Amino acid sequence: RLVVVGSVNIDATSYVDAFPQPGETIHSHGHRIALGGKGANQAIAAHLCSADVEFLARLGDDAAADVARAAFARFGLPAGAVATVPGTPTGVAQITVAASGENTIVVTAGANAAIGADLIAAEHERIAAADLVLTQGELPVPTIESLAAACRAAGTRFALNLAPPVGVAAAAVAIADPLVVNVHEARAVGIGAALSDEAPAEAWRDAAASVVGDLARSIVVTLGARGAVAADADGSWVVAAPEVEAVDTTGAGDAATGALAAMLAEGRSLPEAVRIAVAAGAIAVQSRGTVDSYAGRADVLALADR
Ligand code: ADP
Repeated sequence: RLVVVGSVNIDATSYVDAFPQPGETIHSHGHRIALGGKGANQAIAAHLCSADVEFLARLGDDAAADVARAAFARFGLPAGAVATVPGTPTGVAQITVAASGENTIVVTAGANAAIGADLIAAEHERIAAADLVLTQGELPVPTIESLAAACRAAGTRFALNLAPPVGVAAAAVAIADPLVVNVHEARAVGIGAALSDEAPAEAWRDAAASVVGDLARSIVVTLGARGAVAADADGSWVVAAPEVEAVDTTGAGDAATGALAAMLAEGRSLPEAVRIAVAAGAIAVQSRGTVDSYAGRADVLALADR
């Protein structure tokens, strides 16, 4: 069983010609409400790949929570560990996208901030019963650290997607198995600090291999269209992504991370799980949207085996 502990946001995106000035009211030429939050995205990606995923999250008691619950129901994601925090808004990201392609984003953590150390302590049994627990950098730092400590105490494998690359204590990162990061996050945490985005995949692999064991128990660095590299105590690997036509890369990292965790929880080896994860990411870039561009297990495995 995989337990995903993470954020739920409702992304409210307005498309405008130019950003409004203070005090100004303008009209958008389009608006979209969609499920977001790395926790929710990764839980859905994992659930689409695996029969046994639980999502531990918090919603507010507002209309945005209904949008989130409807999305979970649409994907069949079990929501037994998704509770309501009274008197609190659901996490929201208010996004404005200008014609220039620039954006502004205002995030309200809302109910996500209620996922604290006390909640982790109360969920001890769920954590102990899991094969793998996955979380992301969007939760409060003390919560991430408590979760790492709880996993260590319970002997449960802990996977950490350090996105964004918040300052989590080294002891918590050290037990991550794996630590999952993209190239920007990798440099921020001391993997390949001198490497460019375009550096050879072999250089990224070697950078991960040179810090694995100290920084984290195992490491996966995603390299966009080039796939990913991975390292653990047994070796290090370059895993190419299938060649596809990218339409919208939003949420690709979450698709890959969710699939990776689902496959590791199933008992697959790190290089095998990464091979399947990069296929899940490659599917997610081929159509618009975030969770709406994710595929089910059969399609992901078919692309991975191609
Ligand atoms: P993030 O979205 O977190 O920045 P990446 O850009 O590294 O992460 O992408 C995550 C994964 O999505 C990659 O490992 C790969 O599997 C897939 N992916 C991203 N962009 C492409 C692309 N252009 N073609 C194929 N796969 C892609």
